[in-house]
Amino acid sequence: MEFDYVIVGAGSSGCVLANRLSTDPSVRVAVIEAGGRDVSPWIHIPVGYFRTIKNPALNWMYRTEQDPGLNGRAINWPRGKTLGGSSSINGLLYVRGQPQDYDGWAQRGNSGWSWDDVLPYFQKSENWNGPDASERGQGGPLTVNQSHNTWPIVDAWVEAAQEAGFSYNNDYNSGDQEGVGFFQQTAQNGLRCSSAKAYLAPVRQRSNLHIITRALVEKITFDGRTATGIMITQGLQKTHIKARKEVILSAGSIGSPQLLMLSGVGKPDELKQHGIEVLHAANGVGKNLQDHLQARPVYKVNLPTINTKTRGLLNHLSIGLQYVFNRSGPMTLAASLGTAFLKTRPELSSPDIQFHIQPLSADDPTIEMHNFDAFTASVLQLRPQSTGEILLKSANIHDHPAIHPNYLSERIDQETIVDGIRCARRICRHQPVSGMIETEYKPGPNVPDEDYDGLLDWARQTSTTIYHPTGTCKMGHDPMAVVDETLRVHGLDRLRVVDCSIMPQIVSGNTNGPAIMIGEKAADMIIKDQKATTAGGHHS
Ligand SMILES: Cc1cc2nc3c(=O)[nH]c(=O)nc-3n(C[C@H](O)[C@H](O)[C@H](O)COP(=O)(O)OP(=O)(O)OC[C@H]3O[C@@H](n4cnc5c(N)ncnc54)[C@H](O)[C@@H]3O)c2cc1C
Repeated sequence: MEFDYVIVGAGSSGCVLANRLSTDPSVRVAVIEAGGRDVSPWIHIPVGYFRTIKNPALNWMYRTEQDPGLNGRAINWPRGKTLGGSSSINGLLYVRGQPQDYDGWAQRGNSGWSWDDVLPYFQKSENWNGPDASERGQGGPLTVNQSHNTWPIVDAWVEAAQEAGFSYNNDYNSGDQEGVGFFQQTAQNGLRCSSAKAYLAPVRQRSNLHIITRALVEKITFDGRTATGIMITQGLQKTHIKARKEVILSAGSIGSPQLLMLSGVGKPDELKQHGIEVLHAANGVGKNLQDHLQARPVYKVNLPTINTKTRGLLNHLSIGLQYVFNRSGPMTLAASLGTAFLKTRPELSSPDIQFHIQPLSADDPTIEMHNFDAFTASVLQLRPQSTGEILLKSANIHDHPAIHPNYLSERIDQETIVDGIRCARRICRHQPVSGMIETEYKPGPNVPDEDYDGLLDWARQTSTTIYHPTGTCKMGHDPMAVVDETLRVHGLDRLRVVDCSIMPQIVSGNTNGPAIMIGEKAADMIIKDQKATTAGGHHS
């Protein structure tokens, strides 16, 4: 059990590393995953996220602590627990974010992370099946499509948004995000293209790549300040896996900080509370938690939506047959179809809100759909300023950490979510969608636009995560930064973090594409370092 590189977590970023680092047959790579193999058909059928989101065999089933910003509610925080990680249970939506996001990271001193620097890694990862564009990539492992699905109510909403004065954008991933249009999705031949499907499946046979599943990593082992490997537990058996070159944490925004803290890397007084010996004081571990919170206005409509179109045995049968024979129909739906990236204030230099338009509705995305026809115009703030934290509950890896998202604690976040709801309403007042709407079901006519406090309270009472936790091992050079721009943990040797937790500021969009880009860029840096070390004839 000795490898050159030991990767913790086979998620969106981890699978990329496993593939790229094992390209050289002389380099031995292990990737360790707590979940099992991705054999469930519900992982691969796109719409299977409706099932996997409730399945503890594929999902960590985290739950937040009671959040003051949500009127004291605790909410579900699903995370994937299988090969592919969260990319195996996510909504398939592909969004890169805004150039300004990455330029902002670079301006904070993270050289090499500007938009111009990261674009080649987005392109390298991608196999784009859409109109030719110089910003897109061809021939990469991750297949990205324009959605082939249309749904009348979503088409009508996209038209209404244009009537409301917003321009159409046929590729929000081109570097100019602003406008209204349709989502792109990570799918291939009617099947999900997870990070495991894209990066692991094609190289599984490499004899220098070891994929170890159902193995829970308990902690990182150190010799002084140098990471030497990890301890894993499989049932009752504990094993030490040694890393000759590096340990790379890709356990995600909850798993990576949890493992650092359990290994003695974190805020000293918090570690001591749980009897953990402090190896290295790093006050930022688990802090700077950012997520996208979605407010979900729902409109009752006078035409069929998925709510009723998928009810009953006959509908199930015909949908199933359509999928089996044509790989089309509702089973190939990504989590949302229509989107818009808009500004709530004209003086903004780039969009600050995003819409997810779904031809269905439910009181909560993880429970039953309504039994009447309706659609959801979910809206979120792209760059919230509220930050939360992940704290240990105990020194035991089996105990989920305490998640404090601290949503809507900043005034600008409160104002933006209210303006987002008002913007949803403004669009719905335009044709053709206005002619299809019977009533606004939520927030409803008793909370008018002028009632700022009422709208904010409704957002606090009903909003949910859209599953994008980031930032808990942030990259940078200030005292709260955990990793530097090469993603090495400050103050320690042979240890990197490579996943969504390194984002210094959450990106303006869904986070799977960026997690895969981070994996590509990290792999490139690691391989270059290795070549430099070999050429120099010494080990770092
Ligand atoms: C329900 C849902 C819907 C989403 N929808 C979208 C979407 O439509 N579009 C989009 O862009 N993004 C979406 N996201 C977000 C996106 O998928 C994630 O941001 C991204 O996958 C995170 O990548 P990661 O590499 O940081 O972590 P993950 O992909 O979560 O990988 C972490 C891996 O580490 C493993 N792990 C953790 N701890 C340990 C341990 N101690 N030992 C061993 N293994 C461990 C986990 O099991 C997991 O496999 C969604 C997420 C969810 C959960």
